[in-house]
Amino acid sequence: MDIAEKIKHCNEMINSSHRMVAFTGAGISADSGIPTYRGDDGVWHKYDPAKYADINHYHQNPAYYWRFFREVRYPSIKGAEPNAAHHRLAALEEQGALTTLITQNIDGLHHLAGSRNVLELHGNTSRIRCLKCGIQYSMDDVYGMLDEMLPPDCPACGGTLKPDVVFFGESLDAGTLEAAVAAIRACELFVVVGSSLVVQPAATLPVTAKENGARVIIINKDPTPLDDLADVVIHAGAADVLAG
Ligand code: NAD
Repeated sequence: MDIAEKIKHCNEMINSSHRMVAFTGAGISADSGIPTYRGDDGVWHKYDPAKYADINHYHQNPAYYWRFFREVRYPSIKGAEPNAAHHRLAALEEQGALTTLITQNIDGLHHLAGSRNVLELHGNTSRIRCLKCGIQYSMDDVYGMLDEMLPPDCPACGGTLKPDVVFFGESLDAGTLEAAVAAIRACELFVVVGSSLVVQPAATLPVTAKENGARVIIINKDPTPLDDLADVVIHAGAADVLAG
């Protein structure tokens, strides 16, 4: 099958499914201008994740993360709009075909596109909390503090602020992960969109789907370690594949 036939076949499978779960990663938001971590222009080529995304390092020296937030995270997410792939998944939920959208993304674009049943495995960067008093701040609030204070302290109590995202070395929320696995066990079609499938639990969720009898589609620009497990693999841009 050439790529055009594969895209047609993939969309036929999606359009005929009544119990589909989508699983998205940074690649789905690449067309919205948000860089991935591991693709060609991946952020980790410039920023070492051991310094910018590790929880132990964050507690020792949060300034690294907040510099990354100021230089990369905030400018790319602020004002980003959902693209055709986000909109297609929202439409499939609206039509009753997609039961659950599981995402590793922290950018909130699925909600902006209108998806409702979204399980954010890695949290959402737009919520920033004080670890001492629990007050929540917006990204804009905290971005505005950074010229004066980096790392920023909680204006109310002086405590440490932390984005509501799962850093390396932290556990995923158990309830969210359980809900994801339950949705996968009940689905007939599992569609991966824009994930390198190397971070846990991303590396195991397609296996769970397959073991429970679902067909698996992987849409990702680059090959993944789970390509051999999938029924259909398309190495192309998410918006190009899902626009139709
Ligand atoms: P990843 O960076 O490891 O992999 C992204 C994959 O997307 C790559 O394999 C790349 O080939 C593919 N890709 C790039 N552009 C694409 C496109 N237009 N269409 C389809 N595929 C494309 O990301 P991941 O697998 O999500 O896992 C790593 C972590 O990255 C997650 O924990 C997530 O929290 C975090 N992350 C999120 C965002 C975001 O919220 N937008 C951005 C960067 C990283």
